[in-house]
Formats: sequence, structure tokens, C-alpha cells
Amino acid sequence: MARMNDPSESAISLIRTARRIVAFSGAGISTEAGIPDFRSPRGVYSNSDAVEWLSASGFRRDPAAFYRASMDLFSTIARAEPTDAHRLLVRLEEMGKVEAVVTQNIDGLHAAAGSSKVYELHGTWRTGRCSECGAFHNMLPLYDRILQGGTDAPACCLCSAPVRPDIVLFEELLPVEAWQGAVEAVGRCDLMLVLGSSLVVYPAAELPMMAVSAGAKLVIVNLEETSYDRAAAAVVHGRLGEFARAALAALSPAPPAPPAS
Ligand code: NAD
Ligand code: ZN
Repeated sequence: MARMNDPSESAISLIRTARRIVAFSGAGISTEAGIPDFRSPRGVYSNSDAVEWLSASGFRRDPAAFYRASMDLFSTIARAEPTDAHRLLVRLEEMGKVEAVVTQNIDGLHAAAGSSKVYELHGTWRTGRCSECGAFHNMLPLYDRILQGGTDAPACCLCSAPVRPDIVLFEELLPVEAWQGAVEAVGRCDLMLVLGSSLVVYPAAELPMMAVSAGAKLVIVNLEETSYDRAAAAVVHGRLGEFARAALAALSPAPPAPPAS
């Protein structure tokens, strides 16, 4: 195995001594599960009309265009399994170190891995509601109907208006409970661990600065630089899977000593 570089070692040692970690994840934690992030060549932003289709006004104008733009992402999410980086956060929770996992992702992989205190700032693809009467809908059978050609935009069984997933679209505010829970957890943390986020989507990207202002240390693991790197106590520019496997190995309890013969 390749020897770990120093940034990884300092990041792991900060994790080892932290007692109240808030993890803050972005699309980069799920790319190794096969889900593209927003800014990669295959990502949603590679289509210049995406911002229009993925906005609240765009959905009202043309729900079918919203589903045409999103179904690739939703189908990929349906097949995805949690990564080693998701598992690292579960391990840290088992060790009693996790105040909360705050995610910008809509893919539900933190809960699927077993994290229990998750704030989904941008909502979830899994559930939905009617755009008119607000009735709750499980989205999974509705996505299946779209994929089988049964509809191009699912309609509410109560009022026939278009149904939309519970994801935060452009032009919309973040869900109040998730945002407040995240802000409170950040105020209590002694370490914020940023995993796979370009930190350019606001207001979510305010959270690392809130953590630093409240006296917490910041650790960033991301392939590319972010504007927060200089405020961080440790920055690892590398792949999350590699970092997570090194951290999991380093944090595992030492094997029991062999019995005396
Ligand atoms: P982003 O696409 O802006 O940034 C992802 C970052 O992760 C990039 O800086 C990239 O260099 C890094 N990265 C990618 N793969 C990595 C890896 N294997 N190891 C380490 N770093 C890696 O994502 P964002 O900051 O989360 O913001 C984009 C928005 O996209 C969010 O609002 C989110 O809701 C949405 N989104 C979510 C999903 C999902 O649920 N999985 C997927 C695409 C987009
Ligand atoms: Zn309805």
C-alpha cells in the first residue's frame, strides 16, 4: 500500500482527537458510487439548459422537461451503494464522535450506510409531493412509470397536478428544519470534516465558515482546491475512497494480543 502523505496523516490525527465532528458532504462523496457530481463533464451542468429545467419556475412551466433532465441521475442513484467514505462516518458515529452529518446530496447514501443523524440540506430524491395539493408521494414507483414510458411527468392521484421530488430546486429556500439543525450542530462541533464539496453552493457553503468562527477546526478532503483551503487545519487533495480506507484502518481498534502459550 502507498505510504500516506502528510496531509492525510494530520487530517486523521485531527479526527482521532476530535470529540464532536460535523461532517459536511457534497456530490464528491458519491462519485465513487457511480453518481456524477454537478461539475464533471458527465454532470448535470454539462447541459446548458439544466439550470432552467431544475428551477422552481422551470418545473411549473414544463414538468416533463424536469424529469427528462433528471431521470439519468435518479436511475443512477437507485443503483448506487454507499462508499468507504460514507462508511467512515458510520464508524465515527459508532465511536461516539459525530454531532451530525450535514449533506448537500439528495441520494440518501448516508442513511443507507447507517448514519443516523443526517441533515439533508437539499432534500431527497426518494419522496415527493404534489405541486398543487401538497399530498405526499413515494417517488420510486413514479420513476419506474416514467422509465417504462407510462408518463413523462407523474400526476397526483388526488388532484392530477404534477408531482415533484422533495429536492431543493434553484430559486427555492433550504428546508428550515434541516438548516436549523445543521447550524446548531455546527455551533457545537469541535471539528468540521468537509468531504467532496466544491463549497460554491450557498447558503450551504456558509457552514464551514460558521464552524471556524465558532472555534472549530476545519479538515477538507477534496480532489480540487476550494476557497476554504486556507482556513483549514488540514487539506487533503485526493480521492475520498483512499482517504477513507486509510482513516478506517488507522481508527480501527488494535487487534487483541495473541493468547500467551
Ligand atoms: P460539486 O459537484 O460542486 O463538487 C464536488 C466536488 O467533489 C468537486 O470539487 C470534486 O473535485 C470533488 N470530488 C469528486 N469526486 C471526488 C472523489 N472521489 N474524492 C474527492 N473529491 C471528489 O458538488 P457540491 O459541492 O455537492 O454541490 C453541487 C450540488 O449538486 C449540491 O447542491 C448537490 O445537491 C447536488 N448534487 C448532488 C448529487 C448527489 O446527491 N449525489 C449529485 C450531483 C449533484
Ligand atoms: Zn395533488
